[in-house]
Amino acid sequence: MAIKKFAVTPGFEVGGALFRPEQLAALGSIVGPDAQIEMTTFKQLYVAMDEDRIFEVQEQLKQVGLEVHPAGFVSKSLITCNFCLGAEDAGLDIAKKLDEVVADHKVPSPLKIGYAGCALGTSEPLLKDIAVVKMKDVFDIYIGGEPKGIKANIGQLFMKGVMEDELIPIVLQLISIFQENGKKKETYSRFVKRITPEKLHELVNSSMEPKA
Ligand code: SF4
Repeated sequence: MAIKKFAVTPGFEVGGALFRPEQLAALGSIVGPDAQIEMTTFKQLYVAMDEDRIFEVQEQLKQVGLEVHPAGFVSKSLITCNFCLGAEDAGLDIAKKLDEVVADHKVPSPLKIGYAGCALGTSEPLLKDIAVVKMKDVFDIYIGGEPKGIKANIGQLFMKGVMEDELIPIVLQLISIFQENGKKKETYSRFVKRITPEKLHELVNSSMEPKA
């Protein structure tokens, strides 16, 4: 029997990434007693189970409102705060739009993208590969956070005061530059050091310029 892994999340809302009790109960019964369910550090549950049943199981999980994502070397679903300031002030709508487009891209190493609704950053955005922090009506973008190892470091400010309509194109561009220029298994923090933030700026800016 071949075992395959995939990720499950409840998405997020005001209050954070909340599983409803019936969703958790359904998860246990749908995947069955032989599956393993692992709590990851990036707000996804990983399910490892018999590959032959995966399609049917994933369809049933979607029917109870759970999101299904690939595991492994992909960009993860957005890792957000709990939006304690409320949906509007903490930017729930833009976070949902960002989540829809940033998750599940194949990348050289797993990519974690964080979001915080204010500068208190209770979702620890500066420990993520790419992070967006809402600062009243604009957004700051950080890159290169590394929480692992004895050389852990915090992300550095990459762009300040980004307008809402520029945010998604910039983050998508950062993902695409990593896809094109990252080496196999290179972590994003190592990639940022190698390519340099200045070069990344140049690449992002040139991709955002209107084409003649
Ligand atoms: S980052 Fe700000 S808005 Fe989000 S949960 Fe923390 S304090 Fe609340």
